[in-house]
Amino acid sequence: MKPAPFDYLRAESREDVLAQLHEHGDQARIIAGGQSLVPMLSMRLAKPALLVDVMHVESLSKIEATDAGIRVGAGVRQARLLDWATRDPRLPLLAKALPWVGHAQTRNRGTVVGSVAHADPSAEQPLCLLTLGGTLQLRHRKKARSIPASEFFVGMMATARGDTELIESVTFPAAQPGTGYAFREVGRRHGDFAIVACAAVATHTGVRLGVGGVADIPNVRELPLPGASDFDDALNQYAWDLEARDDLHATARYRRELVRRLGRETIEEALRCRN
Ligand SMILES: Cc1cc2nc3c(=O)[nH]c(=O)nc-3n(C[C@H](O)[C@H](O)[C@H](O)COP(=O)(O)OP(=O)(O)OC[C@H]3O[C@@H](n4cnc5c(N)ncnc54)[C@H](O)[C@@H]3O)c2cc1C
Repeated sequence: MKPAPFDYLRAESREDVLAQLHEHGDQARIIAGGQSLVPMLSMRLAKPALLVDVMHVESLSKIEATDAGIRVGAGVRQARLLDWATRDPRLPLLAKALPWVGHAQTRNRGTVVGSVAHADPSAEQPLCLLTLGGTLQLRHRKKARSIPASEFFVGMMATARGDTELIESVTFPAAQPGTGYAFREVGRRHGDFAIVACAAVATHTGVRLGVGGVADIPNVRELPLPGASDFDDALNQYAWDLEARDDLHATARYRRELVRRLGRETIEEALRCRN
């Protein structure tokens, strides 16, 4: 199918983007890498009157270390963050998760922020942001705000972003001493969205397990360490609480079993990786 007609604006500054969003409201859509939006346009699942391209705005193209962690601008492509994370030890979870995002070709176009904005429940980057306790920096023409990832994802591909807000960046907390990080997923083929994806952060006292692909939004839960008397019960309860459903790709029962097995494996790997 062909998209419905739309106008296109190549923004040169953040102010350009904000002015367009302010003027056009929900009739305008930001386009970043286009790896999710273009198929949606082609299928006419989205029919914006205007696309605002943010990929030529210099100030949005940075990866920066801040007190809160590693801040990734809206114009940073997934391939660039993967390259950064494989050379800098401060984002070990992203170094492990990003190779699972699509293919080299899609990572060369798609952005980290675009994936978070799109909020697919099976997507790896929203899951990592949530599991690490990251934040999003949003900006409206007159004001800016920062919100935790735990408040951003509100439903299936639905977020707390307002129609006139630009997500300027997302911030991933940097790796902490004595902490291990691991990521695993099961999909039909490498490069497909996950049937179940697990991200784990392990310290010497407990673990945090993030799960994507099961519920409408990515989820995260604190669990006891494996070996604790209540570990298996806690993991099993988590698998049930996600309220998995059958779909074309897998049954609810298979997804629950993946949460138990893949979840345990991911936690065990994170424990082994503690530095
Ligand atoms: C073949 C294929 C396989 C893929 N496999 C995977 C996979 O395994 N895992 C995975 O996670 N993804 C996968 N994807 C999707 C890919 O990661 C996309 O790049 C990503 O979901 C969206 O990023 P984008 O930069 O392309 O955003 P776009 O497609 O440009 O935008 C997506 C949405 O986010 C909004 N948006 C973008 N940037 C901003 C911003 N700064 N502020 C506010 N709103 C914004 C847009 O308006 C749009 O609604 C795949 C895509 C393809 C084509």
